[in-house]
This record gives sequence, structure tokens and C-alpha cells, in this order.
Amino acid sequence: MNLEIITVGTELVQGQTINTNAALLAKAFASIGVSSYNQQVVDDNQKRIEESISIAATRADLIVLAGGIGPTHDDLTKESLAHYLGQELVIDSQQWQYIQDYFIKQDRQLSPLDYKQALTFREGYCFNTEDGLACGSLYFDADANQYYICLPGPPNELKAMLNKEVVPYFEQKIDQPLATETICLNFYGIGESQVANLLEPIIQKARELDIAIYAKPRHIRLVLSQKQSKIVDNYQLLDETSHQIIDQLKDYYIGEGREHTIEAYLINRLKQLKLTLSGAESLTGGKMLSRLTQVPSASAVIKGGFVVYQAQAKVDLLSIDPELIEKYSVYSEQCACAMAE
Ligand code: ATP
Repeated sequence: MNLEIITVGTELVQGQTINTNAALLAKAFASIGVSSYNQQVVDDNQKRIEESISIAATRADLIVLAGGIGPTHDDLTKESLAHYLGQELVIDSQQWQYIQDYFIKQDRQLSPLDYKQALTFREGYCFNTEDGLACGSLYFDADANQYYICLPGPPNELKAMLNKEVVPYFEQKIDQPLATETICLNFYGIGESQVANLLEPIIQKARELDIAIYAKPRHIRLVLSQKQSKIVDNYQLLDETSHQIIDQLKDYYIGEGREHTIEAYLINRLKQLKLTLSGAESLTGGKMLSRLTQVPSASAVIKGGFVVYQAQAKVDLLSIDPELIEKYSVYSEQCACAMAE
């Protein structure tokens, strides 16, 4: 099954809201083995929402729209999809009852547009929710064998609906549900292109795996993924390949896992060596220790430090000889070594 996500919202295209829903949706569907190659973001405009749907329909068999299903005039997603499909929207009685009860419980007045949140396709399926007021709706186009779904925009509502209803629904639809197993390997002191070069033969041999190389701010991360039927559940190729990669790049390897950074590596290595660390920082203004102390259990290694920004602070707090500063300046190996000592 091939998915295309369309996130809807003017605030998304204008950059006022970070589009976390796209990532949430992509991850949730990837976890059950649904592939996804394209995504779109569109503003709250019916014509452009319909255009996006028509583009997605040429290349995907599961089209998921998120956002714009609330009660206001600019919430147009369900209406746009219904118009595109030539389908009628009706009120889902269960969701409408839930909305009315909610307003009574909250002692609030229903507004004339609140019914919009209970709209669903006459010939579709309704994802009822008690995590928000707007229900999700699904329409299956049997002729084209395509699924269309509208889901809410507020991330907490979307997450709840995905986990409780949408993912389980599609897991059942997929004959052989796939699972993706991932390994993250981290390397330091080597560039992206050099990694790609050195790993070329290993990558060529493991074509069934997805191997991505990412340049992080201070290290290189390799993400290896293997899609596999949940029934087979055998990740031998993934394990073997990751061992080969670690072996090939062993001089640069700093550890496994998404949380693993050069800071974590340094703290763990010092812990193993039973060494402690103190900082004497000038230009970095405390940033070095600030980063290192974010690693859990850093207190076992880090004693403390000095931030000595001005030359006089180096003299007063670290007893650097003023003549050394005079002779070599603060921007010198000699001054740095004296600070470390
Ligand atoms: P509502 O009933 O609140 O109108 P809705 O389903 O119409 O729900 P939107 O109006 O699109 O959803 O968005 C509601 C909230 O969720 C807004 O604060 C919006 O910024 C946020 N939101 C919408 N889409 C996304 C997204 N893709 N990523 C992160 N936040 C989002």
C-alpha cells in the first residue's frame, strides 16, 4: 500500500506552525509497512485542497488529509474531499450525540457550525473520537481501489485517533503486515562522502536494506532499516550489515542509537577510564560544559569549570601569567594550554 499525506492549514504553509503531523503520520504508517514517497502541504483553500487530492490520487492508493476538519468557516477539508469525490457528507449520529453531550457537560452553547465536526461520508466509515470533537472520515473508492481519509489537525487528537483507530484499521487491511526494524550507528571524525565511499561495497551487497547517511551537526549518523513481514521476523541481514559497517569504520564509531551523540560518547568513555573532566572556557562561554552536562549521569565525570571570557578573568580566576597573554595573545595554543593546566 502506497501512502500520500496532505497536511492542510494556512499556518503550516506560512511557517507559523511546524508541521509535526506529517512526521507523526508518516511514522505511524511506516510502522505497519505502508510506503510513502510524496507529501503535500496546502493552505485552507478548497480549490487548492482539491488540486492536491487530484495530484495524490495519480500516485497513491491511500490518501490521508490532516487538519481543517473543525467547526469554523476555514475548515474545508472534508467538504473539499467530498466535492472532489462527488460524495455526500452526512451527520454521524454517534459523534453528533457526543458533541451535544459534551457541550451540555461543559455548560456551553453549541454554535451553528458545530455540526460540521460530526460530518462523515454517507458511503464511508467514521472514526469516532472522544479525544476531540471532530470525527475522522474514510471513503473507499472501490473502482480505483483507493482509500481517502480526513483526520483532525490538533496533534494530540490526531495521535489518539491514529493509535486507537486508524492504524489498527489499516493493519487489518494489509494481507501481510510489514514491520520495520531500524539500527542507528553514529560516527565521529569522518565526513559524509568518505563514509559513503568506504561503505559502497557493503551497501551494494545489502540492497534489500534501506541505508541512509545523515550529516548531524557534530557527527555522522547511519540509519539502516529492514522491512520484513511480521510473520517472518528475521533481521539477520540487518544485524550482519551493521556489524560489517562498524568493523569497516571502527576508528570513527561512537555508538548505537538515536540518542547517541559525541557528548554521550565522551562521558561514557571517561567513565570507563575512571577519569573526570573540568572545563576552562573562553569563547564558548560555558557551552561546552552545558552540552556535556545534558548527558544523563554526567555528574559522575564532570566536576565543574570556569568561564573566563575577558583576559583579566583568565588572570584572576585561572592564574594565567599576564605576560604569557601579552606575548602570545589569548588566541594562542600557549594560552589554551595554560588555561587547561
Ligand atoms: P479544530 O477543531 O481545532 O479547528 P482541525 O482539525 O480543523 O481542528 P486545524 O484547525 O487544522 O485542525 O488545526 C488545529 C490546531 O492544530 C492548530 O493549532 C494548528 O496549528 C495545529 N496543527 C494543525 N496541523 C498541524 C500540523 N500539521 N502539525 C502540527 N500542528 C498542526
